[in-house]
Amino acid sequence: MDEFMPRGAIMVEKTLAIIKPDAVKKKLAGKIIQRIEDEDFKISGLKMLHLTREEAEGFYIIHKDKHFYNSLTDFMSSGEIVIMVLEGENAISHWRKVMGATDPALAEPGTLRHAFGSSIEQNSTHGSDSPSTAEWEIDYFYK
Ligand code: UDP
Ligand code: MG
Repeated sequence: MDEFMPRGAIMVEKTLAIIKPDAVKKKLAGKIIQRIEDEDFKISGLKMLHLTREEAEGFYIIHKDKHFYNSLTDFMSSGEIVIMVLEGENAISHWRKVMGATDPALAEPGTLRHAFGSSIEQNSTHGSDSPSTAEWEIDYFYK
């Protein structure tokens, strides 16, 4: 955000959203996409992919030194995922609010991770965490 942006200005942003393998396997993709539309996001990209282990490692490279990196990239390459680009006012924070906390046990009722997540790893959805991350993540899948 730059210094010329007035406080409280409407920020039309893009975020990457992913329906993770656990949710696709449980046939929750339709419900999650319906929620995205109900939240009034514009879906400006959508595709189903099955990541290789290397692609999952590249996507989560920021977490390469974390204890969960091996297991996470194994999980993320274990089945099909649905990748989306969502647009809207404050899309990054809006989508993270709809997903809820990383750990489904801590996610608020009404959030996707509360409803559909089964563990801190298998938590149904992914969202970007900042404008620069969103740009990098969208570019990763839409070069
Ligand atoms: N994750 C995990 N164990 C942890 C923390 C995170 O398996 O202790 C997984 C989880 O799937 C999470 C992803 O790694 O969604 C990325 O972690 P991050 O901290 O970026 O959480 P997010 O931004 O997805 O809420
Ligand atoms: Mg994150």
